[in-house]
Amino acid sequence: MRKRIVAGNWKMNKTYEEALSLVSEIDNMVKDEVNGEVTVIVAPPFPFLQSVGKLTQGNDLMYLAAQNVSEHESGAYTGEVSASMLKSVGVQYVIIGHSERRMYHHEDAQTLYKKLKAAIAQGMTPIFCCGEPLEERDADRHFDYVGKQLHDSLSYLSNEEFDKVVVAYEPIWAIGTGRTASSQQAQEMHAYIREQLSRMFDAEAAFNCSILYGGSCNPGNARELFSQPDVDGGLIGGASLKSRDFTDIIKSF
Ligand code: PEP
Repeated sequence: MRKRIVAGNWKMNKTYEEALSLVSEIDNMVKDEVNGEVTVIVAPPFPFLQSVGKLTQGNDLMYLAAQNVSEHESGAYTGEVSASMLKSVGVQYVIIGHSERRMYHHEDAQTLYKKLKAAIAQGMTPIFCCGEPLEERDADRHFDYVGKQLHDSLSYLSNEEFDKVVVAYEPIWAIGTGRTASSQQAQEMHAYIREQLSRMFDAEAAFNCSILYGGSCNPGNARELFSQPDVDGGLIGGASLKSRDFTDIIKSF
């Protein structure tokens, strides 16, 4: 069954105290206002994972994600965090291939494939991000660009491994810009992604894969985006830092 998911990527924001207040506000609002049909995920910075996780564990609807994972198992990789470390503090989801990591940390397709394998091997669910820059869309090459991103990192996974994967389509021109893809643009890309997945994996797995939209999603546009047949939820940046906005987005289903 395809899951409906709203995930908040806090990026490099919040102090420890602020992170705990934010998650407890979200926790209370979700308990009071959200029915059981949406999986809610929060992705705080690494140092806060364990403490934030203590609160998400008390709520049946909420799950904990990391924003990144090392492709290596363990050893002399200063500053890196392994999948087994994340697993050991209760992390259930991992964002992999966010455009900011591809851009600022030069993460390439092979590295992302290794990160996917590392997360899956520890029983965590990767949220694999893809999405084109503005010049690719303007040149009408966005489908090919995203298709290649999917192929270059995902196609080496087995059907069983792919069963665990969530995909997030995040057009780079919409991230943090206030410019959202229209619901039609989102739907046509999500349908394309699902079709590509059905060529790489079995059709049922592609049908059941949750494909999230990300890019300036907010309480004003979430309902329209989430009403599209192939949009199974959202990966939310800026609006996930405000408990009211984040909860209203969750309630848009
Ligand atoms: C993101 O970076 O994943 C994102 C969707 O950011 P924003 O919602 O701020 O555009």
